[in-house]
Amino acid sequence: MYFLKLVYFLSLVAVVALGGVGASDDCKDSHSPRCRKSSTEHQMHPRPNKPFVSRGIGNAQERTSDYWLNLGYNHVRDKVNKKLNTNKAKNIVFFIGDGMSIPTLFATRVALGGEEKQLSFEKFPYSGLAKTYCVDAQVADSACTGTAYMTGVKTNFMTLGVNGQVPLSDCKAANNPTTHTESILKWALDAGKSAGIVTTTTVTHASPGASYAHVADRMWEDDYQVRQSGCDPNETTDIARQLIHGAEGSLFKVILGGGRGHMRDAKFPDEEDGFGFRNDSRDLISEWLNDGKPNKRYVWNRNDLLNTPTNTDYLLGLFENSHMKFRQQTEEMNAQNSEPTLEEMTRSAINILKKNNKGFVLFVEGGLIDHGHHYTIPKAAVGETIEFHKAIQAARDILEEKDSLIVVSSDHSHTMSVSGYPTRGNDIFSKTDRTLGGVGLAGDGMPYMTLSYANGPIFSTQYSSTGRVNPDNSDFSRWNSFYPFLVPTTDLETHAGDDVGVFASGPHAHLFTGVMEQSHLPHLMAYAACIGHGPKSC
Ligand SMILES: [Zn+2]
Repeated sequence: MYFLKLVYFLSLVAVVALGGVGASDDCKDSHSPRCRKSSTEHQMHPRPNKPFVSRGIGNAQERTSDYWLNLGYNHVRDKVNKKLNTNKAKNIVFFIGDGMSIPTLFATRVALGGEEKQLSFEKFPYSGLAKTYCVDAQVADSACTGTAYMTGVKTNFMTLGVNGQVPLSDCKAANNPTTHTESILKWALDAGKSAGIVTTTTVTHASPGASYAHVADRMWEDDYQVRQSGCDPNETTDIARQLIHGAEGSLFKVILGGGRGHMRDAKFPDEEDGFGFRNDSRDLISEWLNDGKPNKRYVWNRNDLLNTPTNTDYLLGLFENSHMKFRQQTEEMNAQNSEPTLEEMTRSAINILKKNNKGFVLFVEGGLIDHGHHYTIPKAAVGETIEFHKAIQAARDILEEKDSLIVVSSDHSHTMSVSGYPTRGNDIFSKTDRTLGGVGLAGDGMPYMTLSYANGPIFSTQYSSTGRVNPDNSDFSRWNSFYPFLVPTTDLETHAGDDVGVFASGPHAHLFTGVMEQSHLPHLMAYAACIGHGPKSC
């Protein structure tokens, strides 16, 4: 009896909290008792007009109790039998999926074959959540978050490798070295380990930049951008110069990604298309090649990367003038040989870094997940998440769990949500299928997509000043099809403020649990590897 009363009370609370969701048309005041009364359980949880017809995979078994009970028992046994790995972490690979929100993981699982699928890193034994806010921002960008997860210090929006004393875009504040933060890659170098960065964005972008740069504005990737901000490039060193000549960047054994343009003056033609972006007559690629260190190699295409001689000690690979292409775009252009995959770059990086018997710290970013979401093209975001998942599987296959820690996380979330009550196995990129039979149609009588965004660019084909576009009149077949959103923005879709996942495997992976500040991540990794200035495991 008490239980029934409790259920009734909770359902009443739910109705009040929802403020009359599903109220009848004549419900003018959503908080009135009459309106609440008309909000029925049925409207909150509409019954399908016909039984769900699920796809075949696993479903015969799933309808039995034994299937779920055995799955659960085995899970408990796996957990109980898992021995803590308290070895010293010789190697660390730190993966960041830029903008890889929790709904992105869900959508990727379904795209890979089903809701029950696990991405490579979802099989890792330990996971937690990271809070992504920055010192002056509720919703973060990739620079303040990069500074947090790479250096252990939260800072101001869009500032990179400096603490919260530095205001955004202040030309000279970051020249004061006491404002600089130290990255886990520097701690690794100080301990005699090798260090490297891999990304699908420019190597001077915010996420990789947090490992070596100290600037008041993430946009200062080259001297032209510094000047555009009204600062003097002679007094404010751009990010590309900090990578090639800075205390940390100049010691990196591996630098792979996009961004040739930020390295070269506009008078130098690019290997593939266009010219450099700089305005100071410099060619930082040749400066890197000729700095006197032995066994250096510069590559700009997939073939040269895959044929890197084994005696290479320093590898600079820049595969685009700006960001690398979405993988789906590369495939559509039939240009797979022009650009390596994230997995191939990760394998190449590990091959070079593992030659150091003291170990290494490698940072790998799946940087274009974020770009897919910004353009509200979730097929691209999911496609890049699949590439990211493959790269992590490769790293876990190459490196032994006993001495190599792999940590996977994201910098911030995005506004994409998964909504409606689609049938199990429904194409994640399609309409919420229960709208098809007339049940669950939106209030405007149109069906809706399972994936949609809270905001998105006003230039999108999904924007209409007269209301939302009927999905039945839209083309969602392409990898870069725009998806619906609520609020039109003059820029692009924004980041979101919810927590991101943290997944760990290897020495001291059990520490990466609970709800933590994003800035705790490098300290935990440093503890496992006995590097840095904080607590150490040995
Ligand atoms: Zn972004």
